[in-house]
Amino acid sequence: MTTHSLEYWQEKAANIAICGQAYVNGSYVDAISGETFECVNPATEQVIANIASCDQADADKAVAIAKTVFEKGLWADLAPVARKKILIKFADLIEQNAEELALLETLDMGKPITEALNTDIPAVVNSVRWTAEAIDKVYDEVAPTGIDAVATITREAIGVVAAIVPWNFPLWMAAWKFAPALAMGNSFILKPSEKSSLTGIRVAELAKQAGIPDGVFQVLPGFGHTVGKALALHMDVDCLVFTGSTRTGKLLMEMAGQSNLKKVWLECGGKSPNLVFADCEDLKAAATAAAWAIFYNQGEVCIAASRLLVEESIKDEFIELVKKAAAEIRPGDPLDPKTNMGAVVDKQQLDTVMHYINKGIEQGANIALGGERVAVGSDKLGCFVEPTIFDNVSNDMAIAQEEIFGPVLSVISFKDEADAIQIANDCNYGLGAAVWTSNLNRAHRVSRKLRAGLVWVNCHGDGDMTMPFGGYKQSGNGRDKSLHAMDKYCELKSTYISLK
Ligand code: NAD
Repeated sequence: MTTHSLEYWQEKAANIAICGQAYVNGSYVDAISGETFECVNPATEQVIANIASCDQADADKAVAIAKTVFEKGLWADLAPVARKKILIKFADLIEQNAEELALLETLDMGKPITEALNTDIPAVVNSVRWTAEAIDKVYDEVAPTGIDAVATITREAIGVVAAIVPWNFPLWMAAWKFAPALAMGNSFILKPSEKSSLTGIRVAELAKQAGIPDGVFQVLPGFGHTVGKALALHMDVDCLVFTGSTRTGKLLMEMAGQSNLKKVWLECGGKSPNLVFADCEDLKAAATAAAWAIFYNQGEVCIAASRLLVEESIKDEFIELVKKAAAEIRPGDPLDPKTNMGAVVDKQQLDTVMHYINKGIEQGANIALGGERVAVGSDKLGCFVEPTIFDNVSNDMAIAQEEIFGPVLSVISFKDEADAIQIANDCNYGLGAAVWTSNLNRAHRVSRKLRAGLVWVNCHGDGDMTMPFGGYKQSGNGRDKSLHAMDKYCELKSTYISLK
């Protein structure tokens, strides 16, 4: 854990140089239009930078460069071991600049500095390093044909990959895309969220410093409906990878259909259930995990366990335990290393969260904890919401079905195992699900029945780079992390050689 003081981070924040330019062909540049938009720190509501607002013209330019570089084979034709060395250096450089990157993340989107430094940036480093280390250890295939042929099945880079990512874990989600895309030899264009452009912009320079050729790693900040749309509709973008809302994911699939049928891989939203059975051995541990499973990162987490399903017989006792655990989680100055909950990303998201809290009340749920916007610090500014728990929620209420993406927990009771599974699966999303029980048979039975890409037993959110990450149903189609992620970034070629 960081040992730096609040004063250390305040001073560093006061002196940090922030770049808001796009990164095209190995250089920082303004948007061709010259347009910019403001980057606002949600904890202070102060403008901290102006960001290049890229659009169609910038997308056209960056894609043309990416395509040329790919065709020349400057990166794609390097031996895997050569790409590996450069990517490992890239990981090392990210690690060496961890404090600056963590601070940019905190100032940009409001997460606590302790989390940015000790969780986000190490995860980025691990993602790049792990993927780099894998690429010269993965073999292609020889098909079991007859003696009159040699048939190979090989993986080749796709070409130009564009990634459109969200703001909740800005560099972390980007790394889950750029690590495997670059490892496979593609040219890569990052479109960060307009709410969190800073680390994506900064890391581009480190890619160049590591030895990644110009034009292989480019960054186009800007809005979804401008530069995001231009990339999604582009005839020379071969693959579009996305993390964000289900609503946007659906639009991107349509745009692929309207253009060149580019491959589209989606990691979308969630409304993950957390099932607590009365036979759970350690209810206190389960309650602490349940609180963190929703309030971590201000609830702005795709796998946030926003539906807490509790067996009827222990519901009252369990809610009290969750409330006790949640009392330890308080919004505070994100630059203070003691803060364990930061600011919601911006005013718009704050309004969304408050809208859902009001809707929960209107629809008849009871507030068991929180429910208010709170002021932090002497200036009383900032987008802060306290941990909020709703009791007496039925699974058809908006707060049980729609992704809020904020610190709001809906508690629903169930009668028995079948009822729990039915409620858990009664949702359009299928990203994560957790089960708390001491019964091994039940743990296996329930895990198999849950329609979710990620299932945790007696924990929530655990996992590492060796495990694929992605969802069922409207939570998306692809998988990030692990060797499975590589499949998104390559074509599969069958070559049949007839022998005489
Ligand atoms: P969002 O869909 O609003 O935006 C995501 C990205 O898409 C941004 O870069 C945005 O600029 C871009 N975009 C928006 N409209 C676009 C358009 N018309 N054309 C092209 N691009 C467009 O999502 P968000 O609010 O930034 O992020 C929150 C969402 O991300 C939540 O739903 C969350 O569950 C999801 N998420 C999923 C995962 C996962 O792995 N499944 C991980 C993190 C976040």
